[in-house]
Amino acid sequence: MNKGIVLLLVVGWFGMAKAQTEDEKQLKMLFDAALTEGKAYQWLGHLSNQIGGRLSGSVEAELAVTYTKKQMDSLGLDKVWLQPVKVPKWVRGNPEFAYLETDPGITTNLPICALGGSVATPAGGLKANVVEVQGIEELEQLGKDKVEGKIVFFNRPMEPTLINTFSAYSGCVDQRYSGAEAAAKHGAVGVIVRSMNLRMDDFPHTGSMGYGDTPVKDRIPAAAISTNGAQFLSTTLKLKPNINFYFRQNCKQLEDVDSFNVIGEITGSVHPEKVMVVGGHLDSWDLGDGSHDDGAGCVQSMEVLRLLKKTGYRPRHTIRAVLFMNEENGLRGGNEYAAVAKDKGEKHVFALESDSGGFTPRGFTFDCSDADLKKIQNWKGLFEPYLLHIFEKGYGGADINPLKQEGIVLAGLRPDSQRYFDHHHAENDTFEHINKRELELGAAAMASLVYLFDSQTSTAK
Ligand SMILES: [Zn+2]
Repeated sequence: MNKGIVLLLVVGWFGMAKAQTEDEKQLKMLFDAALTEGKAYQWLGHLSNQIGGRLSGSVEAELAVTYTKKQMDSLGLDKVWLQPVKVPKWVRGNPEFAYLETDPGITTNLPICALGGSVATPAGGLKANVVEVQGIEELEQLGKDKVEGKIVFFNRPMEPTLINTFSAYSGCVDQRYSGAEAAAKHGAVGVIVRSMNLRMDDFPHTGSMGYGDTPVKDRIPAAAISTNGAQFLSTTLKLKPNINFYFRQNCKQLEDVDSFNVIGEITGSVHPEKVMVVGGHLDSWDLGDGSHDDGAGCVQSMEVLRLLKKTGYRPRHTIRAVLFMNEENGLRGGNEYAAVAKDKGEKHVFALESDSGGFTPRGFTFDCSDADLKKIQNWKGLFEPYLLHIFEKGYGGADINPLKQEGIVLAGLRPDSQRYFDHHHAENDTFEHINKRELELGAAAMASLVYLFDSQTSTAK
């Protein structure tokens, strides 16, 4: 090795060491600011406690639009605006009611809730025998003979041995989403689905469902039952297969209404035409106040912009916080944002979503090329002091997914998932279950990743 090469290597090494130190310093500033004077928790307190559940098309959803726009206006960003989007409006109506009738007149009430998008039962309710299945496949095997005129009870539990509880959710959610469509084809009169919850409790968990191409006249009502309720129903059915189940719900699908995505931007100092997005969804289900799903992701995304400004960092690319409307029952906000970006010829190079709860961040998953993933994994060491270790391929998020195209990196924040489904889409998704520090650590982790993408992404292409 000649002296020239040695010198280059030494200079190169010092250069890297210096850059590393600057990155370490910037990450520490972001985490310190989030943990000592963060705003995310306070914002979420307002969204959850002053406004509440924000189902698309509701008054609460509109109040959340106004509130978050006002907060972003106060951050001294370069631009804050509302992006119009038409959203579906489904209303739950009166509280649902269900009981199990073991003998004529002998009943036990059970906790249920209508699934989002379901039709109502007849006004006086619906009473029928029950057939229990572990999934759509078993339903298909039973066929019309065993199903006609009955309520189909989908009771496949989430798989407890999966450490990533989102995998357990994916393994079950087909019965919630498509159960009614499949059961109607075999002449069923209603559907009851075990809640997507790993814990045994009394909270029914709602969530979206669809009827596919089922004609309107053939659509049957679908409701979720709590895990304890499901257990009780299943046990009782084994003893007495001919029991009757009664339920009543008067939910309704109304006309689409006007709503908005809320967007705040720091315009890039070097590449204003290249956009990086950080976001969550502003709508939520109506049973709780949507603190984890996804108030947390919204306030964390707003906090990313505030933290970058607070630490004096001037982004080279345009960084946007996008609070998407209608993820839960339509994804209209995410689709509209991507459609407008395409129309305007905006170049999106990176998007990060937080929609997995406000729990302790463990890392990120990336939907990108192998070459990009390799580059990203070089930053892993920078996150070790903050106990973030997941840097692997995986999903970005539902709202940012429509932006997917060659060259873009989509990323999802991965908080610890063990407690998420205790609360997901249920009455107990509330602010008291948010830990302030965990929420702030998530925001700082997101800001750190955005900073690294902004400062280190090659802008040559
Ligand atoms: Zn969500």
